[in-house]
Amino acid sequence: MSIYIDPEVAVSLRGYEVPERLGFGTAMAPVMFRAVCQDGCWSQGELIPYAPLTIDPAAKVLHYAQSCFEGMKAYRTAAGSIALFRPEKNAARMAYSAKRLCMPSVPESLFLDGVRTIAAYCANLVPGNRGESLYLRPFLIGTQADLTVSASTSYEFYVIASPSEAYHTGNMRLWVEREDARAAVGGTGDAKVGGNYAGSLLSVGRLKERGYDQSLWLNPADRSRVDELSGMNFFAVIEGKLHTPALSGSILEGITRNSLLKLARELGYDLVEGAIHIDTLLSQIASGVCTEAFACGTAAIISPISVIGDEAHSHELYQAPGPVAKALREALLDIQEGRAEDNFGWMQPVDPVNF
Ligand SMILES: *Cc1c(COP(=O)(O)O)cnc(C)c1O
Repeated sequence: MSIYIDPEVAVSLRGYEVPERLGFGTAMAPVMFRAVCQDGCWSQGELIPYAPLTIDPAAKVLHYAQSCFEGMKAYRTAAGSIALFRPEKNAARMAYSAKRLCMPSVPESLFLDGVRTIAAYCANLVPGNRGESLYLRPFLIGTQADLTVSASTSYEFYVIASPSEAYHTGNMRLWVEREDARAAVGGTGDAKVGGNYAGSLLSVGRLKERGYDQSLWLNPADRSRVDELSGMNFFAVIEGKLHTPALSGSILEGITRNSLLKLARELGYDLVEGAIHIDTLLSQIASGVCTEAFACGTAAIISPISVIGDEAHSHELYQAPGPVAKALREALLDIQEGRAEDNFGWMQPVDPVNF
């Protein structure tokens, strides 16, 4: 289907100046992509000026949280062109998340039109320093105005974009969360939905008071194994092998996680996808058997972990970032920014639209 380009888009883009200090996800591009779905039928996609949404106060999303999202980036490559990283993986994951919340999935072609169109029109807004990007945020919401508890009959799909700096978390101190659970197996833990994030915020508030940065979530059933962070997957180097928790139903499968596993295999690391018992891990850190730990996600790529602690212990990882984290981060960023051969066929060029 063709995409409607609102004539005001050119005006918005011409009048826009990229802020000098970008931050991450703070500055918004002046345009957005939208499509609506009524009773299962999708409208034409359109690129329109960025503006507040008009939403009925009784819209289902506001009460029953029919809402899912994606996070991805458009990169400026070393040659100056613009490219997306594995966008079909985001399309597939959003379809999965939508299905879990009884929402119609955004067809892959519409999703890809959305992210490509906004990246193409915002090509001049894609910053080019190492680690910078145009962060893209596709999201889908149920908009039917009706307080009955049932799936909405109408939906809106948007893609907004934010020219962003590299996302630096610094070395992270993780608090082992033994009280709350982020998500339940059979619940929405493996779907990318806003409610999972809302449920994680209380834990983060508590741990900040104790001098920590992020929660390390355990498996919800008996809190004995590591699941992940609130928005990043977990890796540890133990006896020289790269370990990550196996997908369990309460872990969101990161595209960065998936990509790092493929890269690590190519780089010759021994991989273990399996259970990481928290008490074993803590003693392996204390004894030096576990030499590094890091988290990964689209925003930061890889964030080194310097401390993992709880009420009883606080164990320091002396190599943060360690050599494995550094090597994997460089290898992935080199592909994304076009300095290294894209052997996996991950990058998809976008033709810029100029004014
Ligand atoms: C988005 C997300 C991740 C990371 O996924 P990427 O595709 O690598 O960005 C990890 N965990 C949770 C809970 C997430 O929501």
